Amino acid sequence: MAAPFSTDKVFIGGVWRPASGEATLPIENPSTGEVMGALAAGTAADVDAAVHAARAAFDGDWGRMTAVERGRILARMGREVEARIDLLAELEALDVGKPLKQARNDVLALARYLEFYAGAADKLHGETIPFQDGYTVYTLREPHGVTGHIIPWNYPMQIIGRSVVAALCVGNAVVLKPAEQASLTALAFAHIAADCGLPDGALNVVTGTGAEAGAALAAHPGINHLSFTGSTGVGVAIQQAAAINAVPVTLELGGKSPQLVFDDADLDKALPFLVNAGAQNAGQTCSAGSRVLVQRGVYDEVVRRMAERFAALTVGPAMNDRDVGPLVSKKQQVMVEGFIDKGRADGLIVAQATLGDLPSGGAYVAPTLFANVAPDHPLAQQEIFGPAVVVIPFETEDEAVAIANGTPYGLVAGVWTADGGRQMRLAKRLRAGQVFINNYGAAGGVELPFGGVGKSGHGREKGFEALYAFTTLKTVAAHHG
Ligand code: NAD
Repeated sequence: MAAPFSTDKVFIGGVWRPASGEATLPIENPSTGEVMGALAAGTAADVDAAVHAARAAFDGDWGRMTAVERGRILARMGREVEARIDLLAELEALDVGKPLKQARNDVLALARYLEFYAGAADKLHGETIPFQDGYTVYTLREPHGVTGHIIPWNYPMQIIGRSVVAALCVGNAVVLKPAEQASLTALAFAHIAADCGLPDGALNVVTGTGAEAGAALAAHPGINHLSFTGSTGVGVAIQQAAAINAVPVTLELGGKSPQLVFDDADLDKALPFLVNAGAQNAGQTCSAGSRVLVQRGVYDEVVRRMAERFAALTVGPAMNDRDVGPLVSKKQQVMVEGFIDKGRADGLIVAQATLGDLPSGGAYVAPTLFANVAPDHPLAQQEIFGPAVVVIPFETEDEAVAIANGTPYGLVAGVWTADGGRQMRLAKRLRAGQVFINNYGAAGGVELPFGGVGKSGHGREKGFEALYAFTTLKTVAAHHG
């Protein structure tokens, strides 16, 4: 299926136009290896034009719009996204290799973000502060102005929801740089925004490489806030670039998130989540609970049951909607296979799914389960970002906490136990931005603040917390005595 819009243009100031340079980037279908089209390779000049267009919108119609009107536009966009679910899901499946059903979930999540932030637009307010006689003191929550958004390829629509939509909700004008491997739904989102009456320049999309368009956006003196989701290495470079202009940055980075399974856990409930860490989006999920720590009393049973499920996972092209699709690219495939080879050499593989008859150009990797992995082994320390899960045994709660907290990351932790006291203790002791107890991910609830500590980043998106991140607080002290 060809995209029903031209993919080789950037969207600046409400106009679809060619990038300023000649270069394009191939749009590859990771299920087959086929090149489906071309993306504009936006340049620093395009980013500059987009930032100026955003500034004009912020100083113009968009900046003057009331919160109620902004909310109504977002509500319209939410309905339109939902109405176009078939198209958006197919675009994502073809572009990223995500099985169709999972891509449909991403569309629904984007629609839900739009619904949530549509309702929130007119509910953010400041406070009055009791102060000395003769003063009235209050705070105003104001948009930053122009916000830059650099996003990865693994969940483009969900990340547009929690970052771009939240920024628009409070009145910022946005410049979005999607990932070069997955820009189609970002472009489709811009079409929907325009159709739903978002004023010109409130949302600008510049496709292109990280090294050129991304770096130009991070270093641009005309942005007032930068939201980055991606790898830790690039996040650090981006924070340094933005620091030159004293631009505040939200960093949503990688993870190596643990799920702790205690002897008293409800294993029937836990197992789908343990396996899903490797299956969902082929394990290419920042928050994947892909380090499974299991107490000795149930260790053999958990490994056996996980191994059965891993071996039974089906793999296939995204449009065939198997359990696991291809990875996003050949490059990612080679990287993940490197980890699997290492695990094989060290005798750690306990189960692997079979790759059947698959298109030869696709970036497929067999879902793999590693067990009896030492906590300091590279497989237990580094983000694999593929369909692979490691299992690590432990004896005591203290040991489990030490292993769980023993990586530089701190995105998510999951705890599976029936013991209420332990649930509360671990919620405090685990070093992570979110702790899930007897579930993992809380079904992606858009209301829940999300972010990391340590090398997983800082700042929060999702929920109301994102609205604080995308606004600045002004204190007004009026003396009338
Ligand atoms: P990446 O860091 O390579 O790329 C992310 C984005 O940054 C892309 O748009 C890319 O073009 C851009 N970029 C690359 N180099 C740049 C530079 N020098 N300057 C400016 N921009 C640049 O990450 P990825 O491989 O696309 O995504 C995978 C990573 O993202 C994983 O580490 C994953 O854990 C993380 N991630 C985190 C979250 C979260 O919420 N914490 C969510 C999704 C993904």
